[in-house]
Amino acid sequence: MSGKPPEMQADTQAIPHWYSPKSETPTIIDGEGATVYDDEGKEYLDFVSQLYCCNAGHDNEAIIDAMEEQARRIPYVSSAKHNDTRSELARKLAEIAPGSLSDVYFSISGSEANESAIQIARDVQDAPKVLTRWQSYHGGTYGAGGLTGDPSTRATVERFAATTGTGKFLPPLPKAFDADSPRELAEMAADHVEFVIQNEGPDSVAAILTEPIGGTSGAYPAPPGYFERLREICDQYDILLISDEVITGFGRCGDWFGISTEDVDPDMITFAKGVTSAYVPLAGVIVDEGIGQHVQENGHELGQTFAGHPVACAAGCAALKEYDDGLIANVREHEPYLEERLRELEASHGVVSEVRGRGFLWSVVFADPVTDDPFVHPWVDHDSDNPVADVRKEATDRGIMFGSGRPDVQVLVAPPFSVGQVEIDEA
Ligand code: PLP
Repeated sequence: MSGKPPEMQADTQAIPHWYSPKSETPTIIDGEGATVYDDEGKEYLDFVSQLYCCNAGHDNEAIIDAMEEQARRIPYVSSAKHNDTRSELARKLAEIAPGSLSDVYFSISGSEANESAIQIARDVQDAPKVLTRWQSYHGGTYGAGGLTGDPSTRATVERFAATTGTGKFLPPLPKAFDADSPRELAEMAADHVEFVIQNEGPDSVAAILTEPIGGTSGAYPAPPGYFERLREICDQYDILLISDEVITGFGRCGDWFGISTEDVDPDMITFAKGVTSAYVPLAGVIVDEGIGQHVQENGHELGQTFAGHPVACAAGCAALKEYDDGLIANVREHEPYLEERLRELEASHGVVSEVRGRGFLWSVVFADPVTDDPFVHPWVDHDSDNPVADVRKEATDRGIMFGSGRPDVQVLVAPPFSVGQVEIDEA
């Protein structure tokens, strides 16, 4: 028992509550739109879409019907064979993906999508390293965990994960560079990436894998020009650029993909969560035509039994239609209002040091108003004395669910795409 966190030892339930002690988190049994209900009938406005994934809300009939229709026709077809629904979703994904991204390799979780991207990049480039940034999250599996730059999971990563063939660079955050303007920050942060590449040895670097907007690390968009420069650097050193869109994909940040807003074409996109609006697990990687050809010609095996499960692909086709039919437009329409209301917090409450984000993905960062320091050591997690955790708990008690970021100095705001002024005001 010695190595387990105290909340797990105290909890006698069969499912361990690693992230939140049972006594502090409700048991959700039902949902409708942007609202979920617990086992005592209490309702909560879900302003974190559970885990940034229930983007089309909790009772979307179109998605449920599509899944039912598929399950009645044929629920499963071998991932080594062709299936009409799987092909239809792959076609749709290629249509909405930027640039010449055209070939889709399905998997089941975001972590596995990143595993596929790592394997493909290493194979295509014949180079071992994939560089990622500090304050990033790419998953919990062996390889993707090794690439994660999330300080609170680093202890686990260092003990178990594949950290060989990885390297880290600093995120384009004001705290990391002494820049006078966002433009200068973009240049300094990109120059730093080039410095890291040169020191790792450009020939040893297969790819840079990065979230276009830092997700659970605090919803931080890059300063203007950063991704353009990153693309140039990747081209200069013949390194692939992989956009991890597990959170930012499918309209969360106002465009189909977060990187689209930067007007930059990556070589690969990894996706998960919102592709089915979390009705059933599905993920994958969309690769550039040339990369796809290399994978085919070299017979690289990326198959998993449940990759591209037809019921999940049916949910995906229906979810994409829902996003296209108005939900992404609603994100764009209400983004300014959500930002305006959040910025009021920044202006009026001394403890809110910063508000940042894009679309329906925002972070409210807390700090001591006098010293500007975080209230707890930023890498300390699940600390019962952390006032930021208290804010989330108080919000939950009052019927609003928000997300927690890593480091735990912030409250994350990521509602389902259907919410409007009424829900934003209430939250
Ligand atoms: N990449 C990003 C950006 C994520 O936020 C996550 C999970 O939150 C993952 C990858 C891992 O996805 P999954 O939890 O589905 O394995």
